[in-house]
Amino acid sequence: MNWIKLPKVELHRHLDASIRFDTILELAHKNNITLKSELRKDLVISEPMNSLETVLNAFWSQQKVLANYEAIKRVAFENVEDAFREGIHLIELRFAPLFIQKGKNLGFDEIIEGVIDGITEGMEKYPVQIGLLHIMPRSLDLQKNLQSTTDILRYRKSGHKNADRIVGIDLADLETEESFTDYAPSIAHAKSQGMGVTIHSGEDSSAAHVKRTLETFHATRIGHGVQIIKDPEVMKLVKQQDVCLEVCPTSNWLTNIVKKIEDHPLRALYNQGVKVTLNSDDPHIMNINLNHEYEVAATKLGFTGPEFVQMNKWALEKSFLPEDIKKDLRKKISEFR
Ligand SMILES: [Zn+2]
Repeated sequence: MNWIKLPKVELHRHLDASIRFDTILELAHKNNITLKSELRKDLVISEPMNSLETVLNAFWSQQKVLANYEAIKRVAFENVEDAFREGIHLIELRFAPLFIQKGKNLGFDEIIEGVIDGITEGMEKYPVQIGLLHIMPRSLDLQKNLQSTTDILRYRKSGHKNADRIVGIDLADLETEESFTDYAPSIAHAKSQGMGVTIHSGEDSSAAHVKRTLETFHATRIGHGVQIIKDPEVMKLVKQQDVCLEVCPTSNWLTNIVKKIEDHPLRALYNQGVKVTLNSDDPHIMNINLNHEYEVAATKLGFTGPEFVQMNKWALEKSFLPEDIKKDLRKKISEFR
C-alpha cells in the first residue's frame, strides 16, 4: 500500500519536540544559542535509549532553539509542511507553552501567537487541517501550569485568526499520585469551556493509572495507554467508555516500553476491539515520520489496508476539531481503496 496516498489523520504529535535537524542548527546559529552538541547522533534518537541523559539532551536542544516568536512560527509552519508531505489531511499538534518558556525571557502570548501564526501560514499554503492541543507538563510547576491553562482559555477567545484552532488540553510526562487531584479542577474547567480532553497515561506507568485518568479527567482519548493490555478490566472500561488510544509504536520502542516492535500491544488491542489510532509522537527527534509507523505496523504487526482505513476513521471521529472541518475527509477515507 502507498502510505502517502492513504488519507491520514494524526492525533498525537508534539510540535515543540519535532523540529527538523537542519532547522535546529539554523535557529541556534541565527540566535547565538549554544547547544551541548550539534551532532546528529546527539540530537536525534534512533536507538532504544540507554541513558536518560541522551534523550533529555535531545529534548532540551529542541526547547532551546524555540527562543522567539519567529523561531516558534517557523517550527509550527514546518510541522504543517511535514504533515502535508506525509499525506496527512488532518492533524492535531500539541505543545507545552511552559516547556517552551522555561529559562527564557519569552512572553506567553508570543509563544501562542508564534504557534498559531505558523499553522495559519501552513494552512494557507497546504490543504491540511490543524487542531492545537495545550499541554501541561506534570513535571513542571503546578501553579504556572494552571495559569497557562487560564491564559490559553483566554487566548482562544481573543479573536486572533485561528485562535479557535486550540481545541484540546493534555497532561504529559510524570504521572504522580498528586497530579490527579492537582489538575482535576483545571481540566474540568477547560472541558466546560469546550476543550477536548486527552491525557498521557499508561505509557510507562500502569493500567491502574489509565483507570484513574478516566475517572478523574473524563478523557475521551488517552495518549499511549498501552499498559491497559495487562488488565482486562481496564480494557473493558476503555471500550465501554468508547475511549480511543493514541498509540505511538516507535516511540514506545525507543523509550524501552516494548523490547521489540513485534511485541507491541497495538495488534492485540486492535483485535480486542479497542479503538486504536496510529501516531508518531516526536517524529524528528525519533528520526521517523507517520508513514514509517504504518510501514512498521504493516510489516511487523500484520496490519492490513482496511484496518488502517478503520484506524483513520476512528482518529477522525475522535478528533476535537468541529464536524464541518471533518466531513469531507470522512468521505475521502471511506472511499479510499
Ligand atoms: Zn506524547
